[in-house]
Amino acid sequence: MPLTGIYGPDDFANRPQGQIITSPRAAPARTGSPLPMPSLEWTPEVERATAPLYDRVKHVIPPIEWPLMAPTIKAINELKRARGAVILAHNYQAPEIFHCVADIGGDSLQLAVEATKVKADIIVQCGVHFMAETSKLLNPDKTVLIPDTRAGCSLAASITGADVRLLREKFPGVPVVAYVNTSAEVKAEVDICCTSSNAVQVVESLGAPSVIFLPDRYLATYVASKTDVKIIAWKGACEVHERFTGEELRSYREADPSVQIIAHPECPPDVLAEADFTGSTAHMINWVRERRPRRLVMITECSMADNVRAELPDVEMLRPCNICPHMKRITLANILESLLTLREEVTIDPALAERARRSVERMINLKN
Ligand code: SF4
Repeated sequence: MPLTGIYGPDDFANRPQGQIITSPRAAPARTGSPLPMPSLEWTPEVERATAPLYDRVKHVIPPIEWPLMAPTIKAINELKRARGAVILAHNYQAPEIFHCVADIGGDSLQLAVEATKVKADIIVQCGVHFMAETSKLLNPDKTVLIPDTRAGCSLAASITGADVRLLREKFPGVPVVAYVNTSAEVKAEVDICCTSSNAVQVVESLGAPSVIFLPDRYLATYVASKTDVKIIAWKGACEVHERFTGEELRSYREADPSVQIIAHPECPPDVLAEADFTGSTAHMINWVRERRPRRLVMITECSMADNVRAELPDVEMLRPCNICPHMKRITLANILESLLTLREEVTIDPALAERARRSVERMINLKN
């Protein structure tokens, strides 16, 4: 069914000016002293110690680049153990992070769920700010670090808690679902969160005839096409996925009719109409593992194709990908810095965190 309505900042004359992109914070509590910078020389010992890691990424990282990365990778892995830290990495992180220093990798839902099981005292989140906030919501007693606080997200930046309150005034009694790509401040105002893996299930779990679904207009359109629930959307978009076009996909197929194309539901509808399969990053990866296509185009962020190719080198990837500049703010250098200095710590106002946590936990506790 088509969207029932779509709203944005310009639709509310009484909307407060300015955007809150991150949530109100509590003061960070320092939990350790800075450690000295380790040696980052490329030596025979570093080469030996990191050889098994290079084996994992040899199909996507040229040998000439490895000596530039390996000393930092070795230092991060040693510091991680010394600090009692665990590294979570989103599928859009570069292969040297995803395959060589991360303890847990996955999509937003997988990382949110795994974050609840983590035993370590320190979590280093290699992803964007809303993901680090979600880890902190689910692990309020742990230290959650993000290597660069500027790692934002165009979806999270598109809406504030005040916007959600205005939507609730306009549609009294209509439940609100927020994609996890939102600040804790927004999560605190909604009924339940969802990810692109479970969005349809979450919407239908509410048993309501209409649902406000925010902030991604394209994911909302995709959900509306899969359910009879009336969907009221927000005008947010992912700056990476909205750049793909249906015409682009048709040109790949004309060049090679046997090519398989899979796309993320944050893409516009004309893109999804041309794809062989639509799914979250986790669903896309499972699809490739099961089908093993000869040639594949993944319509999503660039690093995901690299991470899948590192694991499945027999799948030939065409790479018409778009880079997420926010995800790419996380680097080996600032992960190392983060472990050395225990910065930047993610903190959330405790009263707000309590309300935001409920929305995330309600999603996690939904029966499959
Ligand atoms: S890829 Fe899109 S949705 Fe994901 S962090 Fe980047 S801007 Fe946000």
